[in-house]
Amino acid sequence: MSDWEPTSWKSKPTLQQPTYGDSAAFDEVVQRLGERPPLVTGWEVERLKTQLALAANGDAFLLQGGDCSESFDACRADPIEKKLKVLLQMSLVLVYGLKKPIIRVGRIAGQYAKPRSNDLEIRDGVSLPSYRGDCVNRSPFTSEDRQPRPENLLTAYDRSAQTLNYLRALTEGGFADLKHPENWELDFVTLSSRSDEYHQMVRGIGDSLNFLDVLGGVTRAELSRVDFYTSHEALLLAYEASLTRRAIGRSGWYNLGTHFPWIGDRTRAIDGAHIEYCRGIKNPIGVKVGPSMTPDGLRELLEVLNPDREAGRMTLICRFGASQIQSSLPPLIAAVQSSKQPVLWSVDPMHGNTITTAEGIKTRHFDQILDEVRDSFAIHAQHGTVVGGIHLELTGNNVTECIGGAGGLSSTDLATAYESNVDPRLNYEQAMEIAFQIAGQARG
Ligand code: PEP
Ligand code: MN
Repeated sequence: MSDWEPTSWKSKPTLQQPTYGDSAAFDEVVQRLGERPPLVTGWEVERLKTQLALAANGDAFLLQGGDCSESFDACRADPIEKKLKVLLQMSLVLVYGLKKPIIRVGRIAGQYAKPRSNDLEIRDGVSLPSYRGDCVNRSPFTSEDRQPRPENLLTAYDRSAQTLNYLRALTEGGFADLKHPENWELDFVTLSSRSDEYHQMVRGIGDSLNFLDVLGGVTRAELSRVDFYTSHEALLLAYEASLTRRAIGRSGWYNLGTHFPWIGDRTRAIDGAHIEYCRGIKNPIGVKVGPSMTPDGLRELLEVLNPDREAGRMTLICRFGASQIQSSLPPLIAAVQSSKQPVLWSVDPMHGNTITTAEGIKTRHFDQILDEVRDSFAIHAQHGTVVGGIHLELTGNNVTECIGGAGGLSSTDLATAYESNVDPRLNYEQAMEIAFQIAGQARG
């Protein structure tokens, strides 16, 4: 790649970076990160790219989900297991309904940096730096907590490594065994209607597997493990660059801190540092696409990030909002069609549907989330393109952050269990309902 190196982004306008008081400490942290081993390998990254290429053609489906913002404190067995359980259960519903392989990707093991609308947050006349994710500062509204600290970047690396280590152990054998879906049960959901539907389906799958066993068709090893990949927003470019390496056995540069980095809606300026950084790495790249994207802008962006039109390289994570998707998506589909770029169209029905209640709580209406998913499938069907994936903010904890869904959560319920530091996430029931909707749509 001509005139690119892991730090060439430094000559471009770099949005959404924290200002550190002590630049010597920051430089030292970046140097130490550069000495740490990679978290993933080039082989894994390329395998994911191959699978994403299938999803772009409608031959697989991408399920990407997790917290808006992971917290260091949640690097514990229970939250990690619960997140994985929800994603495994959803993927089972999707594989059963869509009858295609599901690519499981967590917003996990590195989703520690957040873009913010304002550098400062003002409460009762007090103004402090905004919370930018645990790898920058802490969320409580005190000047001590809101101070950006370079050493948090090292903690982010450590927590990512610990999380990924446990995920790898869980998904490699035993826990993810398709013959033992009881391992993925969440204790608090046994009474929900979605849970009944899910268990019926699981029994059906169990019967089919027993039948296959009798025929000797599928080996035990194939059923006992699953592929699971990591992703996060490539926001703090010093962190991302420090984990950008030459991968063993492959040419070129890879971000080996995650399998699948994405560029946020606020940092995708064509002349900006985030695009410059991402154009030079060989990972698959996601780009968040909101209502401000123009057809020409999208064509130009794809040309810069994927000049060779490599299959599996680009995922467009569309997040227009239920009220804007009808007007925003069709012109962008036309732009991609005319450019002959191979892209995976994914739908993020969360970020265009965020509202703030009268009490100042950020939430999302489940109906609008479902509407955006439904419209996305319908619009693509009209244009002869396919929705190859979904991108969700969700958790396995029994939270009350989004309004609506089968549990009928109302705005007064939000206070019951609102745990997110940033955006509201779907709880188990709401997440499963989306999986069932997509699976049901495919059945017609
Ligand atoms: C996010 O995914 O949490 C996010 C900030 O999204 P977007 O860039 O689409 O606003
Ligand atoms: Mn978010």
